[in-house]
Amino acid sequence: MSIVVYERDEESLLTLKAILEEIGHLDNYMSSRVSQISQMMGLESQPILSEVKSGIAVEVTLLIINVDGGEDALDFLKSAKSDIRYKDIPVVVTSALGFNQNVMTAYAFGAVDFIRKPFSTDEAKARIHAALRLNHEIDRRKARENEITEIANQLRDLTQVLRKLSLIDPLTEVANRRAFEQTAEQEFKRAKRNKKALSVLLFDVDHFKMYNDHYGHQAGDLCLHRLAQQVQATIKRPGDMLARYGGEEFAIILPETDIQGASIIAERIIKCVQQLGIRHEYNSAAPVVTVSVGVATYDTYDAECTPEKLIEMADKAMYEAKKQGRNRMSSMQSDLISPFYIDAR
Ligand code: GH3
Ligand code: MG
Ligand code: MG
Repeated sequence: MSIVVYERDEESLLTLKAILEEIGHLDNYMSSRVSQISQMMGLESQPILSEVKSGIAVEVTLLIINVDGGEDALDFLKSAKSDIRYKDIPVVVTSALGFNQNVMTAYAFGAVDFIRKPFSTDEAKARIHAALRLNHEIDRRKARENEITEIANQLRDLTQVLRKLSLIDPLTEVANRRAFEQTAEQEFKRAKRNKKALSVLLFDVDHFKMYNDHYGHQAGDLCLHRLAQQVQATIKRPGDMLARYGGEEFAIILPETDIQGASIIAERIIKCVQQLGIRHEYNSAAPVVTVSVGVATYDTYDAECTPEKLIEMADKAMYEAKKQGRNRMSSMQSDLISPFYIDAR
């Protein structure tokens, strides 16, 4: 940490040197020529004294500049203050001519204090000390600002993670019901606006109570996770969304999908779950874990339909699939006045 001093005459330089040494500053750079100081600080070319880290000089801690020479010193001060490496370094000006125009100009450029000449040792010591303390404060404030910025960044990242977590079911790692309802609402509006079809699938694990009872709750949890991940992998289109709707029940939203398209996907899900081959000896439909799927499609004829109604329809269709023997699907379309089930099997 160096104090850089420019004084026009040798005597002042020596006086200041003695004062600085007295207050413990031995590592100073002193010169009677502005050009030399300016060059040393790298204001004209590359810095010599300053270790430049990310464009900020780390070694100069205070500038003491005599302004009695006029323009040279003021120009130097101006360029130091407009240099990113030195803009926050405190500057103390000295003058033998009282509080004159040059001193005022130096203040306008960013000087923080003024020492009259001839120097009074006590006064000079006190003012230099205060300027150094100011520099210290600036450093501390910068460090605090950096810390705050860092914390703000961490908080922003954390908020994003939390937002994401609040929409994800922890057990199965697919979207949760809340996420599903938000998406269903948006997609439903879009379907109405664009006069496109929209389908919802609800599926439920067959005889899952028996599975838990016989293989244990932990195996049940594992089964739900595997099943959800398997189904997730079969949902290909970017707008499609699988969510855990509750317990061992899942929902899928399929934008721009009519009843035929949705039925094909329902069949695909039934097949992929069965192919997982999770043993379930107490399932009446198959010796492995299976699901029953209800398909409901909103289509452009039904202006009265709502997302809730669509889910209700899917639920009814699923109940129908259970009734028909499980491990199958049943579908329902919203423009039909009375419930009409199309058993695809
Ligand atoms: P159905 O074929 O008619 O759907 O019969 P089911 O036995 O699957 O239906 P029921 O509603 O009688 O039982 C659902 C079971 O799902 C009971 C409950 O313990 C289990 N279940 C719900 N959520 C979880 C879960 O998060 N983990 C585990 N392990 N089991 C769950
Ligand atoms: Mg069930
Ligand atoms: Mg259920």
